Amino acid sequence: MTTILRGRNIGVTFGKFQAVRDVDLDIETGHVHSIIGPNGAGKTTLFNVLSGRQRLTAGRIAIDETDVTAQPEHLRSRIGMARSFQINSLFWTFSVLENMRLAVQARDYRIARSVLRSDADRSEEVSVATSLCVSIGLGDQLHAVVDHLSHGQQRRLEIGLALASKPRLLLLDEPTSGMGVDDLPAMASLIRSLKRDGYTVVLVEHNMNLVMNLSDRITVMHQGRVLAGGSPAEISSDGRVREAYLGKGLDRA
Ligand code: ADP
Ligand code: MG
Repeated sequence: MTTILRGRNIGVTFGKFQAVRDVDLDIETGHVHSIIGPNGAGKTTLFNVLSGRQRLTAGRIAIDETDVTAQPEHLRSRIGMARSFQINSLFWTFSVLENMRLAVQARDYRIARSVLRSDADRSEEVSVATSLCVSIGLGDQLHAVVDHLSHGQQRRLEIGLALASKPRLLLLDEPTSGMGVDDLPAMASLIRSLKRDGYTVVLVEHNMNLVMNLSDRITVMHQGRVLAGGSPAEISSDGRVREAYLGKGLDRA
């Protein structure tokens, strides 16, 4: 096992309020590692700290052995980290393939900087973008306008756009939020295929079914701290975890 991301003593305060405190986190290469916890536990704050969007007020973060604590999001993406795009960053009136081409262009400096792109560059860009669309299960929707996709398809496209930067470590914040049950299996199988393809995935997710089925490791947060960490089996039988969810039962938290 190699550790791709290591967080130590991570703390975030907003004014006097401590949203995250003393969090240690080890993400192993190739794992799907989920971060769960009741509302207000600090999951999104921690997620933003890992991606570099939110400054931490204590602690440090390393990717591989490189300390990235002070690095903003765009620098972390150069060493292989990407977060899924937010749904409001999609171009609604463009097709799936056009959105993907823009993401590929944005990440491929050689192509993006040249107004005089050659036909070979263009066709390579289209072929890279097409295969990315296929990998997220939208191969039969290449020319569909994004606005006409189902919510679940749009959420998969967000993940696909992140893949255009060729990350090794992918951060997904609530990929199933707002999604109908019909779209859940496709998202589950996308995350499974990401793992199969060798990506390391950090997943913040409410849907316990999905978390328990897909995760190699789970970190449970509660009131800004790590309450428990372990395999899905260990977490689902942990009394403190059940208590933190106020007896809701983990499968419906
Ligand atoms: P979760 O994602 O687990 O629901 P969050 O990380 O969003 O939790 O929030 C953790 C706590 O920090 C909450 O009490 C929330 O109100 C607070 N919080 C989050 N962001 C801010 C902010 N920008 N300013 C002040 N308080 C915040
Ligand atoms: Mg949240």
